[in-house]
Amino acid sequence: MSERSDSPDSHRIDLHSHSSWSDGTTGVGELFAQARSAALDVLALTDHDTVAGWSELPAAVAASGVAAVPGIEVSSEHESCSVHILALLVDPSPDSDLAAEMASARTSRVERARRMVELISADHPLSWEDVTAQVAGETTVIGRPHIADALVAAGVVPNRSAAFTEVLRPSGPYYVPYYAPSPLAAVRAIREAGGVSIVAHPGSVTRDDDLPLALLEAMVAAGLDGIEVDHREHDEAETARLREVARRHDLLITGGSDFHGTGKPNRLGENLTAAEVLESIAARATSGTGIIRH
Ligand code: AMP
Ligand code: ZN
Ligand code: FE
Ligand code: FE
Repeated sequence: MSERSDSPDSHRIDLHSHSSWSDGTTGVGELFAQARSAALDVLALTDHDTVAGWSELPAAVAASGVAAVPGIEVSSEHESCSVHILALLVDPSPDSDLAAEMASARTSRVERARRMVELISADHPLSWEDVTAQVAGETTVIGRPHIADALVAAGVVPNRSAAFTEVLRPSGPYYVPYYAPSPLAAVRAIREAGGVSIVAHPGSVTRDDDLPLALLEAMVAAGLDGIEVDHREHDEAETARLREVARRHDLLITGGSDFHGTGKPNRLGENLTAAEVLESIAARATSGTGIIRH
């Protein structure tokens, strides 16, 4: 294996990934082992609405030699539309507004998943136990991916992606929303917790429409630091549009794989972030949480 440097000119930086502490399929140690195989220098762990995986980062960094950016993908909601915001280098303290909002979202996620299973079970062979059987380890972040995996195990659909398009889609009969703060409240809470906020995949094709520009600009006014421009769900036109918005508002531009293990086709390192941008992120954070280096 080639030697890698952790100096500021390290250049393979992926700022978006999930472990089995949320809806990824790999544990944190395995995630970083795979990051090394993908020749990454730096990987951000950004599980949905939880910092539970952070305690495993020092050991994962030591074993893999890949530096870690502790992060979260915070759920927020605007007019029934889910808006994800990456919170990098935040203070993980349980006393913050951010921690309280995430705890509410996690609780609501469980109630929502139970309700969705109830609705689905009227038409398909699926029980709540089938879903909890798909939840890795001790995670408390239950999402549609876990229901999707249970539907695959029950033979209702061939794979996770089919479950999302056929059974779990927001416009379908079984979808139930969960509580999440507004995007503006989330951006403010991330800033209060000393972190850096990056709106995740704002042009995601899995949503019915792009994030409205007016909302993006309101988020900027609330303190948004950047836009995840380079993401597999953005086509060339979308990437160009977002790059222009970022330039106009002097926002940071990031890229990330949004890796979910075997649960999604995304490959580690398929989208990257420039080293200067990571330096700006580290310089902006006021939380005391830093990049974990080997
Ligand atoms: P939820 O937050 O529970 O509504 O579930 C949505 C999450 O499922 C998003 O964060 C996606 O990243 C994730 N997801 C995992 N696998 C898939 C897939 N195959 N298709 C669409 N979304 C997926
Ligand atoms: Zn996810
Ligand atoms: Fe997301
Ligand atoms: Fe994600």
